[in-house]
Amino acid sequence: MTRSHGTASLKRKATDIDRMLTKAYGRKVVELEDDPLDTLVETILSQNTTDRNSHRAFQALKKAYPRWGDLMGEDADKVAKVIRSGGLAGIKASRILGALEFINRERGVLNLDFLRDMSPQDAEAWLAQMKGVGPKTRSIVLLFSLGMPAFPVDTHIHRVTKRIGLIGPRVSREQAQTDLAALVPRSEFFNYHINLIEHGRTVCQARKPRCPMCQISRYCDYFVRTAKAES
Ligand code: SF4
Repeated sequence: MTRSHGTASLKRKATDIDRMLTKAYGRKVVELEDDPLDTLVETILSQNTTDRNSHRAFQALKKAYPRWGDLMGEDADKVAKVIRSGGLAGIKASRILGALEFINRERGVLNLDFLRDMSPQDAEAWLAQMKGVGPKTRSIVLLFSLGMPAFPVDTHIHRVTKRIGLIGPRVSREQAQTDLAALVPRSEFFNYHINLIEHGRTVCQARKPRCPMCQISRYCDYFVRTAKAES
């Protein structure tokens, strides 16, 4: 099979899976979050914890420091205490303070609205200058608050798409963002992202995928391999 044939069939497979997941979980429409800086801070807080814990930490942070400017020059240990419900509080406090200091130094104001006037590539490159703001965090800011084409890959999407065979077995999460974004139209990025996560949480779980009840098993390389091995 030539490379172009391989890519074409992967795109067909990705599109079919998107359609099946949309049928199973519903169509997800992006409602842009108002403030990209809020999204950045909330995403830093969400690293390695549940949505519930990170949201609680974000609410606590907002309550203690109603404006981002209130955090300038603040002691990292004090901030860590406020956000402790989100886990890894010391690291996250330093990352948040570091990001705010960087933005303030570079722009003179604490907001990221200027990114709206940049191309997606330039906005991504600007965010990448900040320490602790990795590829997934950057993609989330681009997709969720700026409405730019980006395909964030979390642990669920990475696992599910590897099993299905949409990405190779050794593809990193960062590379997966580029590979998966090339397989479906930009207009589907948000819907596909959310539905793949839902599928990973409810059916294609890490320890024991529930293949017999999976709506997309006929497209899945792992399922085919397992069925062959058992026959
Ligand atoms: S068939 Fe199994 S491994 Fe494949 S996507 Fe479904 S649950 Fe995951």
